[in-house]
Amino acid sequence: MSLAGRKALVTGSTSGIGLGIAKALADAGCSVMLNGFGERSQIEALQQELQRKSGRESFYDPADLSTSEGCKGLVVRSLAALGGLDIVVNNAGIQHVAPVEEFPTEQWDRILAINLSAAFHVIAAAVPAMRSIGWGRIVNVASVHGLVASVNKSAYVAAKHGLVGLTKGVALELAQEPITCNAICPGFVLTPLIERQIEAKQQQLGMPQEAARRELLKEKQPSMRFTQVEEIGALVVFLCSDAAANLTGASLPIDGGWTAQ
Ligand code: NAD
Repeated sequence: MSLAGRKALVTGSTSGIGLGIAKALADAGCSVMLNGFGERSQIEALQQELQRKSGRESFYDPADLSTSEGCKGLVVRSLAALGGLDIVVNNAGIQHVAPVEEFPTEQWDRILAINLSAAFHVIAAAVPAMRSIGWGRIVNVASVHGLVASVNKSAYVAAKHGLVGLTKGVALELAQEPITCNAICPGFVLTPLIERQIEAKQQQLGMPQEAARRELLKEKQPSMRFTQVEEIGALVVFLCSDAAANLTGASLPIDGGWTAQ
């Protein structure tokens, strides 16, 4: 599916799912603005990889999306570097696991800021640019936890349910324009975010890593395999294509059957 010449911002794209999405968009011909934290030399290597895939220049901005200024600044600099903005993928996210009565206030605030408020600030800043060119695609990386809950993840579940709600609200506001807004809701994907949960399970149950992985999947994901970042990238490319022009306000699970139970 060709998105040749489209200009895309993917937040939190130095690792995991965001990086998978950035690579898929570059493969489809987009110039990409990367964002997130990491080693400068590794990020430069990623930029070069994206450039080889797309044949177009790629960029990187280290904006911290825990503040509204960070989010707005990222959109302004993306518009300048890319020369416009056709596609925005709100992917940056963090996790913290604890019972609600022990949940640290600062972790609650940080999760809500990065996993929910950042998407609002980025969308609010990007929509006028999309309107000016008469085309746009907004994809919010929510989670199965935007649709159902799990214990000890109160902040994450609240933020991701909020992101699904934001997706619907924005989609309705833009429904009569050629700009769509959708959420994707992955189940378990093997990224650094989930590896930390596997390590915790390994220690809690005193089992080898492979057994801890299987245990995690057995609890929730009937397919008994992790979703691949390439599969998520392909879904985002489809949502950004002309074939998905009338697909808006949806929250699409990609979860090996997790939410079918
Ligand atoms: P990850 O830890 O591999 O990547 C997170 C990215 O966000 C990194 O690039 C990181 O640098 C960036 N980031 C973190 N804080 C930031 C900040 N303040 N400002 C800017 N960037 C910041 O995690 P992942 O698993 O790839 O998660 C990506 C998204 O997918 C998250 O929104 C997460 O909630 C969601 N998700 C993940 C899974 C999973 O199983 N891994 C499942 C469902 C949803």
